[in-house]
Amino acid sequence: MGSKIMNIKDIYDLNVGDVIENVDLSKYTTYKINGTGRVLVIPSDIDGLKRLIDYIKTNGLKYKILGNGSNLVFIDSVYDGILIKLDNFNSLDINDTIVTAGAGFNLMKLALKCSMMGLSGMEFATGIPGSVGGSVYMNAGAYNSDISSILESALILTPELEIVKYSNSDFKFGYRTSVLQSNHDYICLAAQFKLSHGDKDEIMELVNNRRERRFSSQPLEYPSAGSVFRNPTDDYAGRLIEELGFKGKSIGGAQVSEKHANFIINTGGATGHDIYDLISEIRKSVKEKYDIDLKVEQEFVE
Ligand SMILES: Cc1cc2nc3c(=O)[nH]c(=O)nc-3n(C[C@H](O)[C@H](O)[C@H](O)COP(=O)(O)OP(=O)(O)OC[C@H]3O[C@@H](n4cnc5c(N)ncnc54)[C@H](O)[C@@H]3O)c2cc1C
Repeated sequence: MGSKIMNIKDIYDLNVGDVIENVDLSKYTTYKINGTGRVLVIPSDIDGLKRLIDYIKTNGLKYKILGNGSNLVFIDSVYDGILIKLDNFNSLDINDTIVTAGAGFNLMKLALKCSMMGLSGMEFATGIPGSVGGSVYMNAGAYNSDISSILESALILTPELEIVKYSNSDFKFGYRTSVLQSNHDYICLAAQFKLSHGDKDEIMELVNNRRERRFSSQPLEYPSAGSVFRNPTDDYAGRLIEELGFKGKSIGGAQVSEKHANFIINTGGATGHDIYDLISEIRKSVKEKYDIDLKVEQEFVE
């Protein structure tokens, strides 16, 4: 992918949906890091999205699909590519235990809605502030469950601008991984989940207990992007980081949370570089002390 200079007028002329220039990036990621996105496009529909991707590819432009930005760090203060948000891909259909949602649908809201309807299987997702599309990409999960345990299929827009149906096995899901992570030009348009009928009160009790657990163990009062590192096999990244004395350690506005060592919080004015440097320092120490290569769960966007 190139990073040629884009012509903003062309993007307006494509007439694909809303075009917003010089967006305040702090509004588009949960880390709330200050920065500017040169242009954000919110396609109205699939034809608009196809036209936009076609234009981007023809002109070799840089772009990024943004979900809820709950796993992203923009490294520089200006992102000069095209940001694309699938807010208008927010359809929802619930047919007995089959739930079909657009990629832009909020996962937390979806999980809560299903749980309140007595549908079981998405309880794990009631605390994950991603979009459906971003969560399929990440195989988001918690409490020994994840997207792969409920996903039936998803619609994918390929780089050839074809819409294909991927079954669960096509995603090659692993711990916080999916095939989309090695195919950045594939866009998830919608996902279908298979849940099961359960007892509404029991489901909601579980959801509420977990919510309390999250609030008591995670620094949800600060901007963050959730867990920074994937847990190494048979251990917890947070345990290793805490043991090395990193809790409370800051670089600029980025700080290792006092409450949970696998969270980095933005205490105010953090830059992408502050977060990157803090992560690098932690990885170096963990490698030196335990000979473990911690894998970063969060994604840096250049
Ligand atoms: C407080 C907090 C708690 C969290 N807890 C958890 C947790 O328990 N478990 C967990 O797994 N995660 C957790 N996360 C991380 C995050 O919410 C998940 O990784 C989530 O799935 C990311 O979704 P998103 O829409 O925000 O994706 P984004 O961060 O916007 O994007 C992530 C990646 O997905 C790509 N992407 C987004 N949409 C699409 C699409 N439609 N098609 C193709 N690619 C796409 C983006 O280009 C990017 O590469 C937490 C985050 C926070 C802030």
